[in-house]
Amino acid sequence: MSGDKKKPQEMPEESTSAGFTPLRGLLGLLWRHKLRLVAASLALIVTSMLQLSLGYGLQLLIDDGFAGGDPEGLRNAVVFIVAVGAAMAVGAMVRFYLVSWLGERVSADLRSAVFSNLVGLHPSYFESNQSGEIMSRLTTDTTLLQTLIGSSVSLAARNTLSLVGALILMLITNLKLSLIILVGVPLTLLPILFFGRRVRNLSNKSQQTIAEVGSHAGEILQSIKIVQSYNRETMEQTAFDRDVTIAFDVARARIRQRALLTGFAILLLVAAMAGMMWSGGQDVISGRMSGGEMGAFVFYAVMLGAAFATLSEVWGDLQRAAGAAERLMELLNETSVISDNGTDIPDIRSPIRFNKVTFSYPSRPDQPALTDFELSVPPGKSLALVGQSGAGKSTLFELLQRFYDPQQGSVSYGNYDLRQIPLAAWRERAALVPQSPVLFSGSVRYNIAYGKPDATDAEIESAARAAYAHDFISQLPEGYNSPLGAQGVRLSGGQRQRIAIARAVLKNPEILLLDEATSALDTESEFYVQQALAEIMHDRTTIIIAHRLSTIINADNIAVVDQGRVVATGTHNELLSTSPLYARLASLQFDQESGKPE
Ligand code: ADP
Repeated sequence: MSGDKKKPQEMPEESTSAGFTPLRGLLGLLWRHKLRLVAASLALIVTSMLQLSLGYGLQLLIDDGFAGGDPEGLRNAVVFIVAVGAAMAVGAMVRFYLVSWLGERVSADLRSAVFSNLVGLHPSYFESNQSGEIMSRLTTDTTLLQTLIGSSVSLAARNTLSLVGALILMLITNLKLSLIILVGVPLTLLPILFFGRRVRNLSNKSQQTIAEVGSHAGEILQSIKIVQSYNRETMEQTAFDRDVTIAFDVARARIRQRALLTGFAILLLVAAMAGMMWSGGQDVISGRMSGGEMGAFVFYAVMLGAAFATLSEVWGDLQRAAGAAERLMELLNETSVISDNGTDIPDIRSPIRFNKVTFSYPSRPDQPALTDFELSVPPGKSLALVGQSGAGKSTLFELLQRFYDPQQGSVSYGNYDLRQIPLAAWRERAALVPQSPVLFSGSVRYNIAYGKPDATDAEIESAARAAYAHDFISQLPEGYNSPLGAQGVRLSGGQRQRIAIARAVLKNPEILLLDEATSALDTESEFYVQQALAEIMHDRTTIIIAHRLSTIINADNIAVVDQGRVVATGTHNELLSTSPLYARLASLQFDQESGKPE
């Protein structure tokens, strides 16, 4: 199923060359919380200043406190240091709270924004983009950004401030020593430039491979029964292990580069520090500089070094986050190919028409699913679609619901192309009862009212009665409140179908699209489903993908579809004599029904 097609894709080239541009998209999200942003920045600046002033405290402590031999001087120095320390504690608390809050808030906003864009996208988007990978972007990538804003950005800003501040204070304190440090610093830039890019590329790749591992697992676990019934557990396990190993190898390569980066940076810094201490120590011995000044200078230099090392680490995080931001911005900027700029609201009870529709699915552009397709359904009438599997029947439903638009020709309602009608207004008019009903986790009530959340209990019950579902629902442990979905009560195929019918009934659509279940329902269920359908079809425009003789005989008209075209229309009896294909299908498919065990 999926075991052998997995290979980590290369990230598109742009993502490694876009730099930090994608992070700009985040600024808009941050700016929504500008008060907090400003307060957090203030707290950040103040704590950095305070931290720097500790160097001065150290100078006081050594020169006035220790070397001066004056208890007053010592006391003043200690008071100064304690006061600065206390202010730093408060500042750090405020900063931590606000910055982390911003990180959480922005990633939450981003998750919502991305999801809200995704639910409106054309369904074919999810055919070419595995939903597992999208899920992982929603969780992993947003978490990365949360870390970015909640910690990396703050760390970067703090350390940049420390770096600049320490540098200025160093220059003021001792020019010659500063120069020694300044020669060391550019040296450390070299490994950062060298390894930084590699780290970034590998990080992107690492994210991607992890996303693939996740979507692979999701796919297999969802299809667990097929996997087990074909005895493919070991093979799937092996394929999964292979994916995991690839992900690990990529991560290992990234870690190695990152480790080298950190090691080199620290080594070079220590070398510069040693030179500085050697030279500075000689100045103190010869009396050209006080011990306190030397102490303060070392303090600044250590701060500078630490800031630099932290920045080189955070640099990697920023790059990782830029990758994540870029992937999320892609999702955020994806637009639906189904246009929604129609403004016309047609009168009800108009005919539906397919006018020379030619349509191919985006994934198979050369193989039209419908070719010059012509069909018309008068209002209030029912039409049964009959044809072999793959003939194009479901595709008609897809086009009618505007999950796709035809490449040529048009689907119209009355005098309007569906594209001229606002999407929501159009979808409001039609309801689909699919072959395999989709039930969400939630109560029976929630599932029936899915298309009309404000429905009253009486409306819900009446829809359930019309769908012949009320009786069995009443017998469920919690009646209409019984939970459905993965953790919910188990319903038979026919019961699920009747809930889906009740959902459609409650919507009270003008147009009904029925995809009849092929799978055999038990006889009793089938009887009720048929009753329910007959009831709701009454006086509605109904198109049915028909699999049963009874449905076909009761339909006002029948269209025989073959290879994306209508090859014949008429009633059952007419078609038996005019359409050889229909006659064959009827004898193969429907005649068995008479011999079906009761
Ligand atoms: P039917 O409902 O009559 O069985 P369909 O409308 O599902 O037939 O399919 C018509 C043709 O379109 C078939 O060749 C099928 O393989 C193809 N097809 C259906 N759905 C898709 C899709 N999502 N992507 C690509 N091809 C599709």
